[in-house]
Amino acid sequence: MAQILDGKKLSAKIRTDLARNVSEMGEKLDGFQPGLAIVQVGAREDSNVYIRMKIKAAKEIGIAANHFKLPRSTTEAELVEKIEKLNYDSGVHGIILQLPVESDFPIDEDTAMNSIHPDKDVDGLHHFNAGKLSKGIIGDDTFVPCTPLGCLELIKHTGVQISGKRAVVIGRSRIVGSPISELLKWNNATVTMCHSKTENLQEIVSTADILVVAIRQPQMVKGEWVKHGAIVVDCGINPIPDSTKKSGQALVGDVCYSEVSKVASWITPVPGGVGPMTVAMLMRNTVHAAQKVLDKRLSPSWNIR
Ligand code: NAP
Repeated sequence: MAQILDGKKLSAKIRTDLARNVSEMGEKLDGFQPGLAIVQVGAREDSNVYIRMKIKAAKEIGIAANHFKLPRSTTEAELVEKIEKLNYDSGVHGIILQLPVESDFPIDEDTAMNSIHPDKDVDGLHHFNAGKLSKGIIGDDTFVPCTPLGCLELIKHTGVQISGKRAVVIGRSRIVGSPISELLKWNNATVTMCHSKTENLQEIVSTADILVVAIRQPQMVKGEWVKHGAIVVDCGINPIPDSTKKSGQALVGDVCYSEVSKVASWITPVPGGVGPMTVAMLMRNTVHAAQKVLDKRLSPSWNIR
C-alpha cells in the first residue's frame, strides 16, 4: 500500500512557519503586515468557497487579505483599472484575480492577469513570470503558480531524489500542467507532458517514476497504468454524485485512488492532498512578495550622484 502524502499536515506546518515570519516582519518594522488583494468578478459559488479558504488562511498567518468583489457588469477596462490601482497601493504586496471571471462582458483573462504588476503576481500567471519559469529562472524574483509549487513540495517531502527520475505530467494547462512540467524539468527530472491528443497515454504513464495528473477527468488513471513504486500526485478535484453523502456528492481526484494506492509508493489523497498545499503556497508567495518590499524599506539603496 502507498504511503499517503498528507497535504493537510504539510500545509499546516508551512502556515505555522509563515505566521512566525510575518510576526518577525512586524517586529522589524513596526506595523508592517503583508497584504493580499483578492479580486473577483461575479459571484460563482465555487470561487466564493476558494476565496473564503484563502482569507481564512491569510488571517491565521497574519496577512491582511482584502476581497474586492466586482459585479458581473464589470468591463475589462474597469477590471484593469481596479488592478492598476492595487498595483500602486503600497499596503498590497500580492494580487490575485480569482478565475474564472464571471462578467456580462467579454473579459480577456490574459489581459487582466498581465495588468497585475509582476512583483505582485503571487499566482504566477503573468506572462513575465511564466516566461522566467520556462527559462529556468526560478528564484526569489519569480512567482510560480501555487498548485504546481504545492505539488513540488509534496514530491520533495517523500525524500525521493527528483533528479534523473522519469516524470510524466498529464495535463498542459497554464495553471497546473505546464508549470509543474517546467518545475520538474528544472529539478532535473526527464519530463513527458501529455494531453488530450496524446497517443498511447497508458504506455507513457507506465514509465513514470513520478506521475502528476491534472486533467479534470474523475478517476481516469487506473491502477494498471501505474508503475510499481511510482510517486503519484493527483491535482484533480471533481464532484461526483454520492447518495451516501448528505450533500449528495463526493469529491474525487483524476486518479482512481483505490486502485492506484495499491501500486504507488506515495500518493496524494483527494481531498487533503494538493488542495491545502495550493492555499499554503499562495500564502508563501504573498509573504515572499512582502519580504522583498520590507527588505528594500529596511536597507534602501541610495543613488546619490
Ligand atoms: P484544465 O484547464 O481543464 O486542463 C485540463 C488538461 O487536461 C488539458 O491540458 C487537457 O488537454 C488535459 N486532458 C483532458 N482530458 C484528457 C484526457 N482524457 N487525456 C489526457 N489529457 C486530458 O484543468 P486545470 O485547470 O489544469 O485543472 C486540472 C485539475 O486540477 C482539475 O480537476 C482541477 O479542479 C484541479 N485543480 C486543483 C487545484 C487545487 O488547488 N487542488 C487547483 C487548480 C486545478 P488539452 O490541453 O489537449 O485540452
